[in-house]
Amino acid sequence: MHMEAPGFRVAFYTLTALSLAIMVWQFLAPAKRWMKGKPINWRPDFVKGVLTFILGQKKVQGSRPKSGAPMHLMIFYGFLALLLATTLLAVSTYGPLIGIPHFHKGLYYLVYETVFDVFGVVFLSGVLWALVRRIQYARTYGPNPGTEAAKDAHPTNPLTTDWKDYFALVVLLGLGVTGYALEAARISNSPHEWDWASPVGAALARLVPNLPDVAYIGIWWFHFVWVWVFFATLPQMRLKHIVTATLTAAGAPERPMGELAPISMREVEETGQIGVSLATEFSRWHLLSLDACMSCGRCTEVCPAYNVGKILNPKQVVADVHRSLVTGDNVPAAVSEEALWACTTCNACVEACPVLIRHTDLIVDARRNLVAEGKLSGTAATMLRQVGSTGNAWGAPSNAREDWMKGLDVPLCRDNEDFDVLFWVGCAGATDPGAVRTTKATAGLMRQAGVKFACLGQEETCTGDAARRIGDEFTFQAMAESNIETFKRYGVKKVVTPCPHCFNTLKNEYRQFGADLEVEHHTQFLARLVEEGKIKAARPNPGETTYHDPCYLARVNDESDAPRRLLGERTHWNTERPAFVHELERDQDEDVVLAEPEHKGRKTLCCGAGGGRMWMEEEPGQRPSERRVNELLATGAKEVAVSCPFCRIMLDASLKQADESIRLVDLAEKLQEANA
Ligand code: SF4
Ligand code: SF4
Repeated sequence: MHMEAPGFRVAFYTLTALSLAIMVWQFLAPAKRWMKGKPINWRPDFVKGVLTFILGQKKVQGSRPKSGAPMHLMIFYGFLALLLATTLLAVSTYGPLIGIPHFHKGLYYLVYETVFDVFGVVFLSGVLWALVRRIQYARTYGPNPGTEAAKDAHPTNPLTTDWKDYFALVVLLGLGVTGYALEAARISNSPHEWDWASPVGAALARLVPNLPDVAYIGIWWFHFVWVWVFFATLPQMRLKHIVTATLTAAGAPERPMGELAPISMREVEETGQIGVSLATEFSRWHLLSLDACMSCGRCTEVCPAYNVGKILNPKQVVADVHRSLVTGDNVPAAVSEEALWACTTCNACVEACPVLIRHTDLIVDARRNLVAEGKLSGTAATMLRQVGSTGNAWGAPSNAREDWMKGLDVPLCRDNEDFDVLFWVGCAGATDPGAVRTTKATAGLMRQAGVKFACLGQEETCTGDAARRIGDEFTFQAMAESNIETFKRYGVKKVVTPCPHCFNTLKNEYRQFGADLEVEHHTQFLARLVEEGKIKAARPNPGETTYHDPCYLARVNDESDAPRRLLGERTHWNTERPAFVHELERDQDEDVVLAEPEHKGRKTLCCGAGGGRMWMEEEPGQRPSERRVNELLATGAKEVAVSCPFCRIMLDASLKQADESIRLVDLAEKLQEANA
């Protein structure tokens, strides 16, 4: 009736087009900034990105319940359903113009009305939840949430709020409430027999029966005012991530979490520079991802450096890089060198970020520039020189790599080319006294199980993991090329290593330089030997042992089960429960063996050694290992089991200070004791 009048139509379409144009216009400036970045040289899987991360909300579901994941899911799926409802209605209304028959009738109509009526409730409940949650946070964390003073007073508050956040929620609330009001007005104004299919709308219509036309028209326009405000203000609110996070997910690199992008010499010759000093030197995707950040603070909440009082704050890193993109400032200066060096590259932030931001890429690229500018000094710089001169991060000469073998009759590749498995020992495994015990135990178990293995001995050099993560890309590449040459000489196909850092680099990064290897961590390899009945699992007394998951095994390479199976446990991620409460669980018929710390599996807490931090000075009271040791001790266990030489070194120092009576042991040693 009234809606058919030409004047109404012109006004409606003009205002809708105008609000959309205002939205697009506001996205043009950031889009121009994204395009200043380097073209991406990967082929993103758009469909998988959208299905997994947008429609499947995988990263949101992986968040802890506390961080509001269920609330976000309600808003997202409610909003999506309402968007779908509007689209279907538009197709049915305008379809006849292009030959699609009108289908908004019959059974379809009844299902449509009922389903979308219910989703409206889901949407509104989610929005109300978000509003209450924000008010509660604001009350808890200060009277002026979002101000610098409030952030200083409560630095761990992950949810900073300003007026725009309330405005966004009020707009969403307005959309939902006026949507229901419009439906009720339509039913009240011109009721028909199928109105029961819209239970909420019908119930509201009963409150104001026989609504006159003029009221209905007023409500109709009022609803669309909210729609136009939503479009026109979207780019100014956190809600802009509806667009930017969708693009970020669709274009996300396929690279595993533990793989850093290489730099080529050609690139350096062309640009005259190594790493990133200006934000425009990041890829277009990385620049786009900066605009997807919602300042939710989940990255900061989990950062081990931030949580022991260091200056590094991953949420702030993203904001600082974004600011430098706008102002043209130098990235390392905008972020601060101190913050860049504080990162352990543990990837807890990357794991937590719901919009797929890769903080470690940003940090390592900036570090690369600092290293090239000669701004790394002290013990970490000494380590890099040692890797370059001796091929060992601890500076031990190459022949010292065979010291641990004395009296053990360990097969060497150079004497015996008939082996199935290359046992990659690593710098720590050959040099550090504690890690050497792991090396010996693993070799002994392999021999006991009849594995045909060999070591490279003095032909092995550092994988270059720490050099790469500190930012010295070309020392890393020199190590990788030399080791790959050695692998090719001996026809190496399978590698087993007790070091998660070597494991990650050999598995995920060496293929960038032509390696084709099957790589296993020693816990994975030994767990299979246990399954095959070649060796026995260790079975500590219940509650006696706790286990510390290394970041580069559990989170970066998603392996938390194999280490537990070595201790006789059957574990798995419980996929029956909603993803946001996934936990590592034991099979019901298994005895509880391990005393688990609060942070475990992919959510493990960093020991502080990664990213080259092992070779950097730590202020007392600012050691991530101390925080981790306190958590491990809180389990009441008498023994801490590890599966990483770096974790072992870091935890050993802090454990000795906290409680000398607690034993620190690698899983391979536990297994060796059980098989003695
Ligand atoms: S990688 Fe780890 S240490 Fe570095 S910013 Fe992220 S959470 Fe913090
Ligand atoms: S970087 Fe990701 S996790 Fe951190 S504040 Fe931004 S959106 Fe949240």
